[in-house]
Amino acid sequence: MTQDRPTPFPLDTSTAHPARVYDYILGGKTNYPADQDAGRAMCGGWPSLPISMWQNRDFMGRAVAYLAREHGIRQYLDIGTGIPTPPNLHEIAQGVAPDSRVVYVDNDPIVLTHAQALLDSTRQGRTSFLRADLRNPDSIISSPEVRDTLDLSQPTVLSVIAVVHFLTDADDPYGIVRRLMDALPSGSFLALTTATADSAPREMTAVAREYTRRNMTLRLRSHEQSRAFFTGLDLVEPGVVLVHHWHPGPGQVDVPDHDVAMYGGVARKA
Ligand code: SAH
Repeated sequence: MTQDRPTPFPLDTSTAHPARVYDYILGGKTNYPADQDAGRAMCGGWPSLPISMWQNRDFMGRAVAYLAREHGIRQYLDIGTGIPTPPNLHEIAQGVAPDSRVVYVDNDPIVLTHAQALLDSTRQGRTSFLRADLRNPDSIISSPEVRDTLDLSQPTVLSVIAVVHFLTDADDPYGIVRRLMDALPSGSFLALTTATADSAPREMTAVAREYTRRNMTLRLRSHEQSRAFFTGLDLVEPGVVLVHHWHPGPGQVDVPDHDVAMYGGVARKA
């Protein structure tokens, strides 16, 4: 698979899409005028949005490094992967353990066209990409990509980073996460982040309005609603927190809470 190959799926660039808006705000190049307009409107409403999104991305890196190092995890199912942004999950996991295996899943065809950057696995490890929708968890679990890449009798991380806020309550996001965790063995982990208005209420409400105006859902969730994704699992300290407070690296401690609108946590399945 080569980068920028034509996709067999329709690629509608006339309207904004979450993966490309996120890419624009992170400073990436895989976005179109509709995504740029959306990103500019969102950052106009809240100039700290890029800080919040980068803190989210950094959480993913710290959580994966922690799970690889401290818990010896070697398998990852990452749903809502996004446009490749270095370091990608497999680069972090394989940087700790070259035999790590990762299945990437996203429903936006643009991620598929850039999947080459996600497929440059180490020789000892393996990565694959599946175009699928989180709202159909059974199709993910039963896919050849998951079955051939991962051994689901071994502990696996379900990584859903900055994606469940694109699901409405009617989609039953809690049930979907539970269904996916049910498919994983004891000793597996959930790593999840989701958007909140708790830390910057006025600003994040304005950002959510810009998503909604463009027919994208952004369901903001309180601390309690975010924590509910981890029900029945054993949360790793410090629990569900604004992402920059989770096992902070040196740069994280100086970021004000008001600049971060994402809750995140990591929890183990007993
Ligand atoms: N996890 C990455 C990217 C987050 S952007 C990170 O945190 O850095 C959110 C991604 O979720 C986008 O790529 C978008 O296409 C994808 N996404 C949104 N809704 C989805 C769904 N229902 N199923 C699968 N992927 C979805």
